[in-house]
Amino acid sequence: MANTTPISFEFYPPQTAEGAEKLAAVRTRLAAFKPDFFSVTFGAGGSTQDRTLETIRQIHAEGHEAAPHLSCVGSTRDNVRALLQAYQDMGIKRIVALRGDLPSGMASIGEFQYASELVAFIRAETGAHFHIEVAAYPEFHPQAKSARDDMLNFKRKMDAGADSAITQYFYNADAYFHFVEEARKLGINAPIVPGIMPIVRFSQLARFSDACGAEIPRWMRKTLEGYGDDVASVQAFGLDVVAQLCEKLIAGGAPALHFYTLNQATASLEILKRLGYRT
Ligand code: FAD
Repeated sequence: MANTTPISFEFYPPQTAEGAEKLAAVRTRLAAFKPDFFSVTFGAGGSTQDRTLETIRQIHAEGHEAAPHLSCVGSTRDNVRALLQAYQDMGIKRIVALRGDLPSGMASIGEFQYASELVAFIRAETGAHFHIEVAAYPEFHPQAKSARDDMLNFKRKMDAGADSAITQYFYNADAYFHFVEEARKLGINAPIVPGIMPIVRFSQLARFSDACGAEIPRWMRKTLEGYGDDVASVQAFGLDVVAQLCEKLIAGGAPALHFYTLNQATASLEILKRLGYRT
């Protein structure tokens, strides 16, 4: 039987016309698996605002559900209001609402301090128009004072009007199951969708993981380090590990899978095929 757990894919907005063309080809390959939506990240401080909008416009024009990310740090209410209007005019119905991280050199935090304030603002401005996704951290956000605090802050975002959450990536399924269990104890019943990071290159993964606080378990780090420049072995190991993680997550009740594609199709497609998805 084919796997029918819903899936979605995340892109970053390409910087060049060539990148946009490549991404369109990536999208065609991924679209064959009928994802619920494609999302497009947003550089904090508005650095990618126009490119995010343009990529969303293209995805929507192709007939796919497109979900822009919107990070509020360094932004003003007027700016966010204008963006929401632009997305509403385009017919966009889903948004991923984030705080973001203040880019270096940007002095002012702007008019929003936390994602919960952005969620409340979107609801106040646009009512029930958007399905709002927020970020969740099974291994906790690096700036959180404590695990408990982070959980309560997550609840704040949900209470402000979010519909569902997508997690930071992780390689330890227990962290996800624990997080979902704790959320349910706090009365959060919304879907919490695991974010899945395929493993393509170890150095890149290690850099991301250090920055966002996602742990690469020691046994995985040691194995990946041991492969050195042997990219084929890194990818074969990565495929085994991530496909097994997805299997565990689905068996344990994950409502969907959200893939961080880094604008590449192959790694996500290999995982989907391994999991029994069919085009
Ligand atoms: P928040 O929910 O505001 O939390 C940030 C920190 O503040 C946490 O430590 C939290 O515990 C704490 N906190 C929250 N509320 C309070 C409060 N009231 N009092 C005290 N402390 C509080 N970044 C981008 O720039 N662009 C993107 O497109 C993007 N997409 C992402 C997509 C996903 C699925 C995920 C998981 C992350 C994404 N990020 C993106 C990264 C994200 O912006 C960073 O992780 C950022 O540091 C936190 O954003 P947040 O929305 O989780 O913030």
